[in-house]
Amino acid sequence: MANLRFQVVEEAFKKRPEEVIAPVERPSEYFGKYVFNRAKMYKYLPADVYDKLIDVIDNGATLDRSIANAVANGMKQWAEENGVTHYTHWFQPLTGGTAEKHDAFIEHDGKGGMIEEFSGKLLVQQEPDASSFPSGGIRNTFEARGYSAWDPTSPVFIIDDTLCIPTVFISYTGEALDYKAPLLRALHAVNVAATNVCHYFDPKVSKVTSNLGWEQEYFLVDADLYSARPDLMLTGRTLMGHDSAKNQQMDDHYFGTIPDRVQAFMKDLEIQALELSIPCKTRHNEVAPNQFEIAPIFEETNLAVDHNMLLMSLMKKVARKHGFIVLLHEKPFAGINGSGKHNNWSLSTDTGVLLHAPGKTPEANLRFVTFIVETLMGVYRHNGLLKASIMSATNAHRLGANEAPPAIISSFLGTQLSTLLDKIENSDSEDVFNMAGKQGMKMDIPEIPELLIDNTDRNRTSPFAFTGNRFEFRAVGSEANCAAAMIALNSAVAEALVDFKTRVDALIEKGEDKVKAIIDVLRQDIKTCKPIRFDGNGYSDEWVEEAKKRGLDCETSCPVIFDNYLSDSSVEMFTKLGVMTKKELEARNEVKWETYTKKIQIEARVMGDLTMNHIIPVATHYQSMLLKNVQNMRLVFPEEKAEKLSSRNIKIIEDIAERTQIIEKGVEELVNARKVANKLTDERAKAVAYHDTVAPKMEQIRYHIDKLELTVSDELWTLPKYRELLFIR
Ligand code: ADP
Ligand code: MG
Repeated sequence: MANLRFQVVEEAFKKRPEEVIAPVERPSEYFGKYVFNRAKMYKYLPADVYDKLIDVIDNGATLDRSIANAVANGMKQWAEENGVTHYTHWFQPLTGGTAEKHDAFIEHDGKGGMIEEFSGKLLVQQEPDASSFPSGGIRNTFEARGYSAWDPTSPVFIIDDTLCIPTVFISYTGEALDYKAPLLRALHAVNVAATNVCHYFDPKVSKVTSNLGWEQEYFLVDADLYSARPDLMLTGRTLMGHDSAKNQQMDDHYFGTIPDRVQAFMKDLEIQALELSIPCKTRHNEVAPNQFEIAPIFEETNLAVDHNMLLMSLMKKVARKHGFIVLLHEKPFAGINGSGKHNNWSLSTDTGVLLHAPGKTPEANLRFVTFIVETLMGVYRHNGLLKASIMSATNAHRLGANEAPPAIISSFLGTQLSTLLDKIENSDSEDVFNMAGKQGMKMDIPEIPELLIDNTDRNRTSPFAFTGNRFEFRAVGSEANCAAAMIALNSAVAEALVDFKTRVDALIEKGEDKVKAIIDVLRQDIKTCKPIRFDGNGYSDEWVEEAKKRGLDCETSCPVIFDNYLSDSSVEMFTKLGVMTKKELEARNEVKWETYTKKIQIEARVMGDLTMNHIIPVATHYQSMLLKNVQNMRLVFPEEKAEKLSSRNIKIIEDIAERTQIIEKGVEELVNARKVANKLTDERAKAVAYHDTVAPKMEQIRYHIDKLELTVSDELWTLPKYRELLFIR
């Protein structure tokens, strides 16, 4: 029987780009085609209902239930005109991904027939089937039945024949069971805190918005090759596979042209994304072979998070059509770069971005410095939590490796901004902020305008870098829901701003001048948060030593890092801001630990199966062929000559024998380690055991499997190799 691998490689090579039929209109015309956006609200809703709904969306007014029916009606009319027959509450459970349960628009008409029906009640609230009712413990409460509630700030959209309604998912006892609910609370907290601080500089500011621009990295693999790799199919990454002789060392992929088949996929994806109002702007090859990136224009954070979740599922669907599988795993292949999702974050008011390099007025300059410093304060105080927010079993492979930010959170500011902060720290007010009469103050800082062009010395190794008008949180994983990072970051900044305002107000109350009070507090804070500032090489060993001295969180074990969610400072911050209760935090950590354990457990099982069903049989088969050859040599040649001629084969026979023994023993130990860990009932202890005893075993086994891949005849090897997975497209 022909080797399956050769068959799929042949199939993959034959594929040609799919034809993509682009809409005849320009992107600006089909943008948002399948979204119930403002234009459609205006068209399909009565004027008073439209006004009320916009008030909810723009100003956070409470939703007036009396308009729900009218809104539902308008939505239904629009949806039906687009061939829609079903609707679903679309939400983001903690398991990752999105969840939906589709219901048809039909109801009994009371006369034995059916009518199409979609009422306000169905729009506003639903009860997705969930497991059991609460029975006491946190774990049980957490699994309890919940309800989903409409989030009017993120517009409904159409996928195929279904109207999708973005919702939060909450338990009957009020705990958030998803990512969106705490995100909305965190965004509210940062809005309130930042607006209050803005009032020092401009009393007219009524709202501060948090923005997010994500950059989604991913790999594409031919679908046929993928189907011949059980590890990729079941775990999202290759558990084995020797380096390709050529991988990313030439840097030719990053600068190279996008392959035709991929180009067709990208075009198709972009069209469909634009139709869903996802403002895709950038596409390019990434560093590793078969690795790519797509990035939209930044949006308000809640919307940006929804759009990222939506895009990830869209990518999977569109990729299938083009004979690809999209890999969102952070580290699908060892030895080459993994994938991340930079989260570009900023705050803005209706008057502009708050983190933008200073404007012309002294107020704007001082405001800029305030928001930079207080962001750093938040990141400094909660650096361990921020790390926890991006941590997962899958992202753990990427962090700390020599390609992505280390497992230590620090911030890069660039020379100008660093110099500016140093200057404020080291001089008295009069020196730095030239107070000029009635106008208030004048900033005497020549460096500031240069910040505008400060894009050149970006430090690629920094997990949280300032890039001119925003911070880039680069440690976020490619597969992650950005909400986790955005909940932690916006909360941390909100807390810092609240704290800042309290201290400034106290000084003002004592009679200090407002500007002086602000500068005094900033000066303190610049000193306090100094340990988080690091402009050097984040990949170096010296940095790990230095970071320890600075008191930054240097923990590398994923399940232990999750503890940060339950530290006193985290619990205090989240409860104070009303983002999450202690009970919610505890319950969510249970889920995190359990998810971690399950991921490693599945990997370990797949590794065991593959080893026994693929690797050992193939290696033994090859060994038998060699043994036969050695025997035949003895039949043909005199003993001494036969011995000499067979020496290479004998070495390989021995090598295979040794390695297969080590591998078999390793698998046995792997199974035992799992058995021991599985007995633990505490979720944290179990996750720690999986991290400490199960995961390392897999690495040891893999090492020998990869060596066998090099030794065994190519003809016999059944699993598609790295060179095929990475270079066929
Ligand atoms: P890079 O050079 O890091 O690849 P890009 O210039 O492509 O970055 O931009 C990355 C993302 O940052 C885009 O989504 C962009 O819209 C977003 N971005 C730009 N300015 C801001 C801002 N002020 N706040 C948030 N995101 C922003
Ligand atoms: Mg970037």
